[in-house]
Amino acid sequence: MMKNCCSKQNCSATKGCPQCGKISKSVELQTVVHQVKFPDVLSIVEDDYYFCDEQSCALVYFSASNKQIYKQQISVFDSARAAKLCYCFDVDKEVYIQALANNSAAEIKQFVVQKTQASLCACEIKNPSGRCCLADFKKLEAISRVKF
Ligand SMILES: [Zn+2]
Repeated sequence: MMKNCCSKQNCSATKGCPQCGKISKSVELQTVVHQVKFPDVLSIVEDDYYFCDEQSCALVYFSASNKQIYKQQISVFDSARAAKLCYCFDVDKEVYIQALANNSAAEIKQFVVQKTQASLCACEIKNPSGRCCLADFKKLEAISRVKF
């Protein structure tokens, strides 16, 4: 059975990002407290949080009571790190794009799908969106089909 990465009731809630205006999906407090670096994490209180996935936006999370959390407060957005596709198994976006070009992408995706089905992924904690990355695999595949 596929693991349900999104079981909470208010999961489909959205709100416009106060910085860039992009419609942002809700994210669990569990995700936020595991993503924000110490000591900033000390100031995270219970609230409804949203995740802005706009790459050029300075924000990563904001809350219903307008607490704003910036990318530099989240370890996975350190500038030295490559953009990740899958945070659970450390797959870079560039690596998957290359694999799509070389026809070796199926093996990578199959690994992630299998591990997800076996409930061995940790999207809620490792992925800053708090969501399963498989939708992002599909997005990159669609982009690559346009490119090649
Ligand atoms: Zn934003």
